[in-house]
Order: sequence, then structure tokens, then C-alpha cells
Amino acid sequence: MPETTTTAPAVTPTDAATIVARLVGDRAGDWDRTGRIPTQVLRELHTTGLLAPQIPTDYGGPGWNSLHTGQFTAQVGSLCSSLRSVMTSQGMAAWTVERLADRTQARSLLPRLASTDTAAVAFTEPQAGSDLSAMTTTATITGDTLRLNGHKVWVTAADHADLLLTFARLGDQAAVVVVPRTTPGVRVRRRAEPLGCRAAGHADVWFDAVRLPTSSLLGAGGQSMSLLVTTALSYGRLSVAWGCVGILRACLSAATEHAGTRHQFGRPLALHQLVARHLADLWSAEQIATRLCEHASRCWDTGSPDVVTATVLAKYVSSRNATRAAADAVQVLASAGAVDGHSVARAYRDAKLMEIIEGSTEMCQLMLADHAVNRR
Ligand code: FAD
Repeated sequence: MPETTTTAPAVTPTDAATIVARLVGDRAGDWDRTGRIPTQVLRELHTTGLLAPQIPTDYGGPGWNSLHTGQFTAQVGSLCSSLRSVMTSQGMAAWTVERLADRTQARSLLPRLASTDTAAVAFTEPQAGSDLSAMTTTATITGDTLRLNGHKVWVTAADHADLLLTFARLGDQAAVVVVPRTTPGVRVRRRAEPLGCRAAGHADVWFDAVRLPTSSLLGAGGQSMSLLVTTALSYGRLSVAWGCVGILRACLSAATEHAGTRHQFGRPLALHQLVARHLADLWSAEQIATRLCEHASRCWDTGSPDVVTATVLAKYVSSRNATRAAADAVQVLASAGAVDGHSVARAYRDAKLMEIIEGSTEMCQLMLADHAVNRR
């Protein structure tokens, strides 16, 4: 792969907050209804390096740590879960490259992911969801040529993507193959009307005898499937957890604003104790999720061995809290929030998906139970 020299300008977390607030504004509801994030928005995030701010400066990225990236992810998540989903996929792709690629591949791919190319990460198949050991997509090598065959489903951002990081079997091992979307034999079909995150570009992808150079295998391939999947998901889980903090903040803000200004029975809703209970639950859900995400990011930034468990815990609690809190927020706003396009209605649909992806609630429970039993 050719080396590139593109570099994103340095951008601070404070600049980033202003940039994304301007780019999203109050348009997330429109993007959700039309199912599209404007290309210009993604392009501008690319030019500032903000689609994957953890990419190291050596490779042209902003080089933020996990905590700063997480706080920014929460801000994006509070504005638009579709955009946050695209960011999560981009960051997950970049992290997978950073961990698995050889030096030449990293020097080619990471600057592109930092500044121009959008990426999606494809592991799920029709018969391989929670159980990724059932994956049947195969990569076979003849001489210098790699041939890829398979079918992936529900790939976030695939409809926006230039590159598809695709998990496949390679003999009795596994590999991640970097597939340019325009390669002959690649077919991408958008998922019609998902429950939530409707502008995140979810799509199914078919690979029919796709021919690529063997240099498309990250790190030459031949790793264990569980190592590959764990590598990608470790980033994705923490990013989704921070995105849920954003959903919680959006719901808390909408519910407190409404409960403070809408009067029934002669006083603000917030002074009715049963409504106040919803507000207390919303605030505590946001605080707990925030603290767990901060802890997981600090574990990430310090290289703590607790990072895997801390990340699963953050994702498990934040996504469940977001689902419950979004329902509470709709309840507090009642008819005012029961409208397609309202931020709490969108949060209600978006939050539920967070319990399915990057390790469902049940998969997280199994991992946490295993930790509880074996931690001594
Ligand atoms: P199944 O595996 O069929 O599970 C169904 C239910 O059974 C779930 O509740 C599950 O938790 C439960 N279950 C399964 N096995 C067990 C068990 N052993 N014990 C207890 N409970 C169990 N995939 C990608 O590759 N890339 C993406 O970018 C991507 N983005 C996604 C975005 C969205 C919005 C959605 C909805 C999905 C996305 N996926 C993506 C797919 C996602 O990873 C899978 O949906 C997820 O892994 C669950 O698989 P499944 O839907 O096939 O459910």
C-alpha cells in the first residue's frame, strides 16, 4: 500500500466541542428522519481529525488519550447517536489497525483514517451474531493474491465507508482484511429503517470472490479469532459506553427543563414527588455511568490490567442506564416527547440498540459473572 503524508491539524478538546456543536446544531432529528448524515459533516470532522481523535500524532491524528476521547464521544452522543456510531466505527477501525498492522500498513492506513477515509468494521454474519466462532467468511491465499468470500450484516457506517475492515477465517486461524469498498465483487446494501441511529449508515455487505493483494491482511493474518474480536471490541465497547453517557445527559437535560417549566395541578411537574423520582433516577444514572466510563478510560490510559473488566462494566451499566433513563425522560415529557424527531423519542430508540451492540447485555453479564467467580 502506498504511504501517505496527510496530517490533520492539531485540535484541542475545547476546539472540538465547539466544532461539533456547530456541525450538528439542531439537525440530528432531520438526519435521523432522512437517514443521512451530510457528507460535508463527515468531511469536516475528517479535516480536523475528530472522527478518530485517539489516532497518535505520529500518524497524523490528534493523539488524544481515552479520557479526552471519551468526554468528546459523550458530547457527540448527547447531540446525535448516529454520528457517534460512525465515530465509534472509525475509532474501532483505527485501533484495530494500530494493534494488528505491521509498520508499513500502519504508516499507510492510519494517516488516511485520521484525515480522509471513513471505515467500518465487519464481523457479524447471518448465522454468527453473539457467537462469532460460527463465522464462515473465508480468506484464501494463492501466491500474492487473496480471495475473500462471505456475507456480513448490520455493519455500522458501511454505507459511508471507503474501507471495510473485514473479519474472516484464514485456514484454521483468522484474519482482518482491509477491503476498499470499490473493489470488484464487493456489494453494500443499506439496512432500511433501523429502530434507531438511523443515519449511521448500517448496511449488509457481500464479498463475492473479491481479489486483493495479500498485503491487505493486517499483520499478515493467522491470528486467533478471539484475539482479533477482543481487540476491536475493547475500543468499541468503551466508545459506546461514553456515547450512552451522552444519551443520559441529553435525557436529563430535556427532562429537567420540561419538569421545571411545565405546570400541572398549580405547580411545576418537578415539585410532584413521583416526577421528582424520575429526575433523581435520571441524574443518578448519568452520574454512575460517567464515573464508570472515567474509571475505564483511566485504566486504558494507564495500561491497567483491569481495563477489560472496567470496559465491560462501563458498557453494561451505561447502556442499561441509558435505556431506562430514555424511557423515564419520555415519561416526564409525556405527549411533548412522544413525537418523532424529539430528542427524547430519538434517545428512546437509540438507547435500546446500545444494549445489543459491542457485546449484548447478556454477553456482558456472562463476562462479569465469570469475573465475579474467578477474580481471586
Ligand atoms: P443473537 O446472537 O442471535 O442473540 C439474540 C439474543 O440472545 C440476544 O439478546 C443475546 O444477548 C442472547 N444470547 C445469545 N447467546 C446467548 C448466550 N449464550 N447466553 C445468553 N444470552 C444469549 N456487527 C458488525 O459486525 N459491525 C457493526 O458495526 C455492527 N453494528 C451494529 C449496529 C446495530 C445498531 C445493531 C443492531 C447491530 C450491529 N452489529 C454490527 C451486529 C451486532 O454485533 C449483533 O447484532 C450482536 O452481536 C448480536 O447478534 P445477533 O443480533 O445475531 O443476536
